[in-house]
Amino acid sequence: MQESGTSDPGLSGYPVIRKNRESLKLPPNLGDYEQERASFSWDKARTLLDGLPDGRGLNIVHEAVDRHALGANAGKVAIRWLGKAGEQRDITYRELYEETNRFANALKALGVKPGERVFVLMGRLPELYVAMLGTLKAGCVASPLFSAFGPEPIAVRMQLGDGRVLVTTPKLYKRKVAAIREQVPGLAHVLLVGEGEAEGEGLERWDRAVGNASADFTIAPTDPEDMALLHFTSGTTGRPKGAIHVHEAVVAHHITGRYALDLHDEDIFWCTADPGWVTGTSYGIIAPLTNGVTSIVAEAEFDAETWFGILERERVSVWYTAPTAIRMIMRMGDDVARGRDLSALRFMASVGEPLNPEAVIWGEQAFGMPFHDNWWQTETGGIMIANFAALDIKPGSMGRPMPGIDAAILRRLENGGVETIDEPMVEGELALRKGWPSMMRGYLHEEERYRKCFIGDWYLTGDLAQRDADGYFWFVGRADDVIKSAGHLIGPFEVESALIEHPAVAEAAVIGKPDPTVGEMVKAFVTLRPGYEADEAMRRELLGHARKKLGAAVAPKEIDFRENLPKTRSGKIMRRLLKARELGLPEGDISTLESDEK
Ligand code: AMP
Repeated sequence: MQESGTSDPGLSGYPVIRKNRESLKLPPNLGDYEQERASFSWDKARTLLDGLPDGRGLNIVHEAVDRHALGANAGKVAIRWLGKAGEQRDITYRELYEETNRFANALKALGVKPGERVFVLMGRLPELYVAMLGTLKAGCVASPLFSAFGPEPIAVRMQLGDGRVLVTTPKLYKRKVAAIREQVPGLAHVLLVGEGEAEGEGLERWDRAVGNASADFTIAPTDPEDMALLHFTSGTTGRPKGAIHVHEAVVAHHITGRYALDLHDEDIFWCTADPGWVTGTSYGIIAPLTNGVTSIVAEAEFDAETWFGILERERVSVWYTAPTAIRMIMRMGDDVARGRDLSALRFMASVGEPLNPEAVIWGEQAFGMPFHDNWWQTETGGIMIANFAALDIKPGSMGRPMPGIDAAILRRLENGGVETIDEPMVEGELALRKGWPSMMRGYLHEEERYRKCFIGDWYLTGDLAQRDADGYFWFVGRADDVIKSAGHLIGPFEVESALIEHPAVAEAAVIGKPDPTVGEMVKAFVTLRPGYEADEAMRRELLGHARKKLGAAVAPKEIDFRENLPKTRSGKIMRRLLKARELGLPEGDISTLESDEK
């Protein structure tokens, strides 16, 4: 292990957190960052995986489940599921192998073909994990939907993704799917998990379809470039984008789990993210399993008492969580962990939104160790920039690029090209040189949008950042108008479209309003059609309308009425100007402003 020799604390001005052997309970997997960076290759990383027997390719689930189930880890707990009502279920690698075999057989029996899309919409139940992994075993494509989405986001994503199968619960089906079922004509089968009744075409009980299927299954030859996962993400304009990920991505899931999360064999790992979002899949399902550790899955939503109970009782050693949750815990004060036996905990990481330097430092006060921020996004499939266990931390920085990842700060040129900005601490677009295994292979049916992400060899991430003289990256903001609320990426267009569907609404514009806990809160500005009153009753009506259509995770929390919305000459609403005005900030360049609010 080496000292990283950092000097300048960078933007935040907080002192550097030094790492040395004494501050680490286990020797980190990535002991010497510089050396590993110099000698790393993705081909070498691939050798940590087995590949399908007899050279039949590479399948995520063989690496995550089968190779452990058929080896020394067969009896080891793969997933410890903690139910909302205090139930507990341990699923060993062997059991997960058999359950996922059953699921793959059930898909086959339904006539579902390799490459077809299986959507999963449910809370964090064991069946979610079996369905996602079983889908990949069958050569089909798994696409998770967040259970707090309303009917509209669900319909749009299943349409775009050509959903053929949906796995959900009777309750969610009735509340969110039944009414939009006709909008997804290709949806042939719905597997219902758990208690309750629901009616509709192609509905089948999980217990019957999966429970009665054979536990023997052989994964068919899988090309590493076969589509495996479809993760939806949001842009500023237009419909959500379905980022395509292939089986080869597992090479990055595995090595980032080892290096950025420092997973060791004996770890009890807890990723608090929901598999409805990419973190909950790459690191809530795949990476811990390929690394053969025991993963905690907690069904309940955030509650500080419950979470501390889990950390303590389950003896969690590696914890991967998000800034919103950390800030909520911080509000409880420094004593929050006092009296708790958190002696098993040795590494804490965070992702999804900027982690304020105070939170990194507070980790040291409250838990005796800092939070390690890392950065990545749906499109990159896995962690790209991280604070590694062995490296000094500059609080407020996202850390340094993974070995094998070339990250840069770019400036766009007038000729359509880009140049790298080599001077330290100059703001530009964060870009990654293409060519790592978990890079998205396209946006489904959106070739043009995909192409626009690249200039030459560079993938442009849509984030603005800076790099300091020691090679640490600092997040500045988004280059576009997407909103990050409680770690969830929300497209303003999707919210505006739902608002405009209300008969009273003429126009809508949606922004992210800074919020001390959730990062950004979704706020809408609307103009009403003639004859409608901009009063409290209308505000409540519109909030309710949006919530019903979009679900709690996406709907605006605040709505303001305006006579007019500021627009460019070409008629585009200027969200940025609305945001600047809302926050009392300088209005910036308003030369293209045509009409204005009054
Ligand atoms: P998603 O695709 O939903 O995972 O969102 C990815 C986006 O979240 C990134 O492009 C960033 O804007 C933001 N993000 C993720 N991790 C971080 C981080 N550690 N610091 C700041 N922003 C982050």
